[in-house]
Amino acid sequence: MKAFEYAVAKNERGVHTAINRGYKVKAGGIDLLDLMKERIESPDKLVSVLAVDSLGGVRETDDHIEVGALVTLEALTVDPLVAKIAPALADSVRQAATAQIRAVATVGGNICQRPRCWYFRSKEHHCLKKGGATCFAVEGDNTYHAMYGRGPCHIVHASNVATALRALEGEVAASNGTDERVIGADRFFVTPDRSMYAENTLDDDEVVTKIRIPKSIGRNAYVDLKEKQSFDWPLASAAVAEVDGKWNVVLGAVAPVPWYSKEATAVLRDAGEVNDSVAERVADAALKDAEPMSRNAWRLKLVRAAVRRAVLMADGKEID
Ligand SMILES: Cc1cc2nc3c(=O)[nH]c(=O)nc-3n(C[C@H](O)[C@H](O)[C@H](O)COP(=O)(O)OP(=O)(O)OC[C@H]3O[C@@H](n4cnc5c(N)ncnc54)[C@H](O)[C@@H]3O)c2cc1C
Ligand code: SF4
Repeated sequence: MKAFEYAVAKNERGVHTAINRGYKVKAGGIDLLDLMKERIESPDKLVSVLAVDSLGGVRETDDHIEVGALVTLEALTVDPLVAKIAPALADSVRQAATAQIRAVATVGGNICQRPRCWYFRSKEHHCLKKGGATCFAVEGDNTYHAMYGRGPCHIVHASNVATALRALEGEVAASNGTDERVIGADRFFVTPDRSMYAENTLDDDEVVTKIRIPKSIGRNAYVDLKEKQSFDWPLASAAVAEVDGKWNVVLGAVAPVPWYSKEATAVLRDAGEVNDSVAERVADAALKDAEPMSRNAWRLKLVRAAVRRAVLMADGKEID
């Protein structure tokens, strides 16, 4: 790892002063330090934001639940308000990583984590996302790559929180120290054809201050399927949520952004009720716009299973 200067901000003003002086934000450091050790990112200066109290805590307002950017994944799994209103969000973090990682990893860092593509994570591969000319996943091993969306970079978004947030019609609040703006999850996460070098629409001088979800959420659930139950990212996931009486179906770990399935959403909205046959039809519809790569079509079965289970779970039904 390259040597770097290190500062600790005590408040948001300190964070923005540091950013304006060229410091990069470090929260829990789970992803950032990994990237630095692998020399994929080599910032000269880091500012820790962990001591900034105003970026923590879960709050309830008249119409939203707000989760501070520094709330750890573990704290979110046990928050009673989130568990009651948004089990999809609580389950998305409960199923992420390991207990040790969840105790350190923050919500803000989770939605801003970089892609897991093994070519991106290897300093020997100068791919499109790093300014090169080729996406090595196209001709190479694309087992864990995108099955939806058309590239030209075929990452899958690595954040479980992102999938749940999109289905719950959540938002991300970001501040540059002067102004705060609120960005819908549908606009925060961005496809590579619009932004090759960043996976979200944050400006360079902005930090995520919180995420928020509406209190008008009805039934909701999150399911992810993976090779091993711990220490791993999902192979496929699904979040299903009713907001203001209308269902949303979102697929995770299958596209460069949380993938809003228009087809599956339409079937569920039209169905009027939830039962086994509706869940099967919603799951079938979720596969309609899939465009798997040479080695990953087998994961579509997992997408189908995750959607079917999430629909039934959201309605409180037993799943097999
Ligand atoms: C073995 C393993 C398994 C994992 N499994 C999963 C999984 O199943 N699902 C899942 O979702 N994740 C998984 N993760 C990823 C992990 O959850 C994330 O790396 C972690 O949440 C990042 O949070 P952090 O606070 O450590 O962020 P950091 O590493 O500190 O930061 C990550 C990035 O976000 C930026 N950043 C951090 N906070 C802010 C902010 N407030 N505003 C703007 N930018 C910010 C940093 O500059 C950096 O670029 C796994 C990680 C490991 C190591
Ligand atoms: S999927 Fe994206 S990050 Fe991976 S090799 Fe292709 S361009 Fe690079």
